[in-house]
Amino acid sequence: MQPGMVMAAPYHLGGGDFYGRAGNPTWRALETAIGDLDGGRCVLLPSGMAAISTLLRSVLRHGDAVVLPSDGYYATRQLVADEFADLALDVREIPTPGPWPDGVFDGVRLVLLETPSNPGGDVCDIAELAERAHAAGALVAVDNTTATPLGQRPLELGADIVVASDTKALAGHSDLLMGHLSVRDDELAERFVRARTLSGSIPGPFETWLVHRSIGTLDLRLARQAENAAALVERLRGHPAVSGLRWPGAAGDPAHEAAKRQMRRWGGVFRFELADAAAVAEFLRRSRLVVAATSFGGLHSTVDRRAQWGDPVPEGFVRFSAGCEDTADLVADVLQALS
Ligand SMILES: *Cc1c(COP(=O)(O)O)cnc(C)c1O
Repeated sequence: MQPGMVMAAPYHLGGGDFYGRAGNPTWRALETAIGDLDGGRCVLLPSGMAAISTLLRSVLRHGDAVVLPSDGYYATRQLVADEFADLALDVREIPTPGPWPDGVFDGVRLVLLETPSNPGGDVCDIAELAERAHAAGALVAVDNTTATPLGQRPLELGADIVVASDTKALAGHSDLLMGHLSVRDDELAERFVRARTLSGSIPGPFETWLVHRSIGTLDLRLARQAENAAALVERLRGHPAVSGLRWPGAAGDPAHEAAKRQMRRWGGVFRFELADAAAVAEFLRRSRLVVAATSFGGLHSTVDRRAQWGDPVPEGFVRFSAGCEDTADLVADVLQALS
């Protein structure tokens, strides 16, 4: 090879295994697996936020309009408000359950939906909103973290891009961070790969291998988590200490009908309110199985009091992530801790 040829080669496109930042067989194995589940081409990133920032940096230009969920993952709004301030974006924040006013997508470059939303578990109709956004010329991305690809396939519903934190239920063991983007458009996929290679925002091969090892039990974990959530929601309904109980998997929940149309499985994440912050602390002190953690979707049941992170929710708002414990044990423990 002539001197200078190495730099001239399009090394950012990956494919070769000459340098770990451009590509390696461990990434490709997991990207093939997740891409199959999403129904698209997957590009791994080292965290959900790395996937979201790679998406926004690759797609948005100065002065663009972008639609974000006002009730979704808080760091996404923070990223746009702080790190992207110089882009002078026209940011339109809409709550996931709507209303989605006429003209809301006019002149918009990118619409980011999050359904079910974190922390509220609200749902929007991906197919309907994708059709409206496409008619206005916008790209549509769906944050699919809470659903996982086994619960929902946004690309089949008309979205252009799946973005997800695999740190949560997909990896499911609360011991690593990972994220990904999935698309059907090869040009978009190449843009994401180039951004990953040149920014150096890359997953570690060991974490990648752990995620691949873990997705073999994703179906089993989601099934038990949903079973535990259903049992807890049933027992907590009407409980004197509990208000605002919501789970998209529950018949009668305001999100249930929309969720049923587009989801194939429920996860174990639901929400409710206790009187105040002290009541949540007391609940956690008394429980033997439930621990405080801001992540969710893991083997162990966890509670996150979202107001502590600045989410616009009441002080006693609890996002409960049902784990894979024995259902009777978990229900008994939660009820005694609330008594
Ligand atoms: C956790 C989360 C993220 C961020 O993922 P990290 O892996 O923590 O970077 C993004 N979106 C949603 C909905 C999340 O729950």
